[in-house]
Amino acid sequence: MSSSASKADDLETLKRRRILSSKLYFDVPPSKVPLIYSPSYDISFLGIEKLHPFDSSKWGRICQFLVTDGFLRKNSIVEPLESTKDDLLVVHSESYLNSLKRSSSVAVIVEVPPVAVLPNCLVQQKVLRPFRKQVGGTILAAKLAQERGCAINVGGGFHHCSAERGGGFCVFADISLCIHFAFVRLNISRVMIIDLDAHQGNGHEMDFANDRRVYILDMYNPQIYPLDYEARRYIDQKVEVPTGTSTSEYLTKLDDALEVASRNFNPELIIYNAGTDILDGDPLGRLKISPEGIGMRDEKVFRFAKERSIPLVMLTSGGYMKSSARVIADSIINLSKKALIELQ
Ligand SMILES: [Zn+2]
Repeated sequence: MSSSASKADDLETLKRRRILSSKLYFDVPPSKVPLIYSPSYDISFLGIEKLHPFDSSKWGRICQFLVTDGFLRKNSIVEPLESTKDDLLVVHSESYLNSLKRSSSVAVIVEVPPVAVLPNCLVQQKVLRPFRKQVGGTILAAKLAQERGCAINVGGGFHHCSAERGGGFCVFADISLCIHFAFVRLNISRVMIIDLDAHQGNGHEMDFANDRRVYILDMYNPQIYPLDYEARRYIDQKVEVPTGTSTSEYLTKLDDALEVASRNFNPELIIYNAGTDILDGDPLGRLKISPEGIGMRDEKVFRFAKERSIPLVMLTSGGYMKSSARVIADSIINLSKKALIELQ
């Protein structure tokens, strides 16, 4: 065996060992429902969150709506653990993680320039910790989905981050991490990513380039960030929805896309990246999907998985208008009323 091949083997063994010794997969008691969230997801400090065009406490507000509307009991929510450095090293390199020890690097990734002048300990605690916690939620969601049919992480979906590079408010590659954990701990080998955030999911696309175990369906606006033409080559099924796409056009394209996907690939797990920046009025997504359209979109994907008995993980991803939290909560309520998820 060549030395480079044995080095790759060593890395693979190390990765496996890290996954097997991780505490992120823990047993969730039956009293809990397959909805994952922690108050430490929410980012807010020193008013800096107001500088981003951005509701950085949308995750907490989604849960609040579900609780006050009577669809969820607060103590039935699953609280994940924070991912550790060893967990993150399953996908990320030591040098990428070290780059986050410079506040200036983090400022560029989260697109909040003032973060650059903050002491890194503050950045670690107030910015990176919430992300690490959300990553823990995404990873656990796959285990919970296998047990319960589906699971929602009310957070995560950082699809612009790859092993070596963050960007677009995505610091850690939670989707790639979730899939690597699932390969080892859930004993599966075929995963479908259905990425319906308005933006192209260039992070997971780079991470699973030419990896036949992962099938990527990405429906995105090709005219906006990240314009990553290299990563586009790794999308198995590309569906472009240009600026101004209406609700009915969107839903028709989705129906067709799911039909094609089911013919092309037979997954054992679906990761559904359910960004709501496709909403009409979203300054970043530039599409024209109504709030009801979001509900119908989510329902279609959940039905697709349920009809085929494929475990489904949903991540909330992008979409940070003030109205997003209400829209997501309403969609989850709809899923619960249609018996596509059990929250009681
Ligand atoms: Zn997005």
